[in-house]
Amino acid sequence: MTFSEAQNRIKKLRSEIDYHRYNYAVLDEETISPAALDSLKMELFRLENEYPELITPDSPTQRVAGKPLDKFKKVVHSAPMISLFDAFSENDMRDWEERNVNYLKRTIREEYYCELKLDGLAIKLRYVNGLLVEGATRGDGKVGENVTGNIKTINSIPLRLRVPTASELNALGLNSTEKNELSKLIEKGTIEVRGESVMSKKVFAALNKKYLSLGKAELANTRNGAAGSIRQLDSKITAERKLDFYAYDLLLDGYERGEIIRTREGADKLANLLGFKTLKQNRVVKNLGEVFKFYAEVEKKRAALPFEIDGTVVKINDLKMWLTLGIVGKAPRYEMAYKFSAEQATTKILDIIWQVGRTGALTPTAVLEPVKVGGAKISRSTLHNFDEINRLDLRIGDTVIIERSGDVIPKVISVLKNLRNGHEKKIAAPDFCPICNSSVIRTGDEVAYRCSNKKCFAVMMREIIHFVSKNAADLEGLGPKVIEQFLNGGLIKDAADLYDIKKEELLSLERFAEKKADNVLKMIASRRILSLNRFIYGLGIRHVGEESAELLADNYKKYLSLKLDSEKILNPKLKIKISDLIKYFQSLSREDLENLADVGPIVSKSIGSFWSDTHSLKLLDKFENSGLALTLNPNNSSEASSNLNSIKNSELNNKIFVLTGSLDGLTRSEAKDKIKQYGGKVKENITKDTNYLIVGAEPGSKYEQAKKLGIKILNEEEFLKLIK
Ligand SMILES: [Zn+2]
Repeated sequence: MTFSEAQNRIKKLRSEIDYHRYNYAVLDEETISPAALDSLKMELFRLENEYPELITPDSPTQRVAGKPLDKFKKVVHSAPMISLFDAFSENDMRDWEERNVNYLKRTIREEYYCELKLDGLAIKLRYVNGLLVEGATRGDGKVGENVTGNIKTINSIPLRLRVPTASELNALGLNSTEKNELSKLIEKGTIEVRGESVMSKKVFAALNKKYLSLGKAELANTRNGAAGSIRQLDSKITAERKLDFYAYDLLLDGYERGEIIRTREGADKLANLLGFKTLKQNRVVKNLGEVFKFYAEVEKKRAALPFEIDGTVVKINDLKMWLTLGIVGKAPRYEMAYKFSAEQATTKILDIIWQVGRTGALTPTAVLEPVKVGGAKISRSTLHNFDEINRLDLRIGDTVIIERSGDVIPKVISVLKNLRNGHEKKIAAPDFCPICNSSVIRTGDEVAYRCSNKKCFAVMMREIIHFVSKNAADLEGLGPKVIEQFLNGGLIKDAADLYDIKKEELLSLERFAEKKADNVLKMIASRRILSLNRFIYGLGIRHVGEESAELLADNYKKYLSLKLDSEKILNPKLKIKISDLIKYFQSLSREDLENLADVGPIVSKSIGSFWSDTHSLKLLDKFENSGLALTLNPNNSSEASSNLNSIKNSELNNKIFVLTGSLDGLTRSEAKDKIKQYGGKVKENITKDTNYLIVGAEPGSKYEQAKKLGIKILNEEEFLKLIK
């Protein structure tokens, strides 16, 4: 990005953020999800970090959200109501601790106080001589709105502070001077209580049910419900909303942090004694490891809580440390909002790719600038069909909001058109199939575009399934269902693409959580080196079975040995260049091939045309540039599987086989030889003693007979597996 592009982008981001912020904070209208807004702010923050000269004092990154509404009287906060830095991962939290370590120039031995992060409206309450005199919103952090009348309708807010008994104060661990000073403060001084006003899930549901029946606009969420209720001119409305309040901070007028109340935990205890609710889930922990445990527990319990939370807040428990660490920029160093991962985020559309489905329908998939959403980094998003692109008016280069929850496929929710710079590209429906290059058709009022080649998907599927099969690339665990998912998700178009799959692409698929994605990647990585014979077999050249593939590979090895010295040939690390392989096969005549592979004219023709066909050359070129390496070492793919097979093979001993139909990869006599080699017997006709029927193409009546007698039927692939 050039400087002027950055300048332009920053300008657009600021005005977009400001637009949504104003709608939400001032008009109580949510026009974008908080997660998507955070995502935009994050982009702005990063750009400003890259170009600090473009930071202006009015940038959204330089302020605490909110602006006091004119309809309320202003309240200037005695101490600013600051916002928090956000963390979304354990790494973010470790970075936070490290920053503090660097700042303090010593290790952190302090305890942390872990709290739930309530999703409501922050409120401060001022008590003078024990009486509630003022309730205010945060506003912009410095100036808030006076909402005292509305606050007074909240039942869990005491209008007069409760006076703790002497023994209660003893339990706080205060000395006698401190006890006296605190008592004086409660009855004759000023105490400020800060906390969150929230609407419970129950009240929210009941209100929306009522509004729906009255035809009134429903509340968007509980946070919106709480904010909208408090920022009302009519206190009666606030009262019917039945809000709740939880305290999370106490300020004692005339005292510094850490004086009288030493810890955050102690502040919660005192708040209880003064008549406030605090969150009983809050807990003191010793280190970040325990913080992570707390976070995980809370995330599990989240749905069962009576109120909405959007994460946890982690604070240094020792309040004196708050003074030492202080504030940097707009937020304090001593506490961190450790939030749950957002289910929406903003990112850019880099490209649209089309893939062919089982029915031949072409489905567009958006290729995204990788972005973290719903706890995972993703780079693909489904678009369903071309009409969806039109409905969204989606263009390449657009900034979009995407949503992902759990392991559901991420989708594009909307386009932020204000962020366009004029270079976005419109998306046209494809004229030709991206797989087979056949023409694309759309019939009648059907939504989908289709490849006119009816076999397109099936052929593609079959080619890939053959390539991953046990005797070829042996990509264990990639069954037809997973391959189909990869195809439908636009992750692969052919077998070569398998070696370039990225984790964020896998996470864009349904039912693909971290662990499953990791397993698939590990397995593919373990098969990055493939023997030449397996590779040639895996290419699915018509009429070329394993035997012929082995012969072809052997002959290439012989050819190489004429060119290279034997030491190099024996070197297991020798990698075969596919471009050399192509040259070699192209140099062979039909007769050469017939001699080499011990095959007839039909097979040699098939082999010959494969190595000059544009479609296969394209695939070979992709293999050359993929993460796959070929070796001459004949059995490298999975030693484990060959061991397994030798055990299986002993089971062939004395078994009776019958063959029907023509086999693809080997002749009937080759098959018979193989069976005998492993101790089996071949008979001409089916009887009740027959153990296996091997079925090739166009099987005869033996097939029906075997089915009737319940004899195990093997197709060619299954048979090859058995004898490998
Ligand atoms: Zn096609």
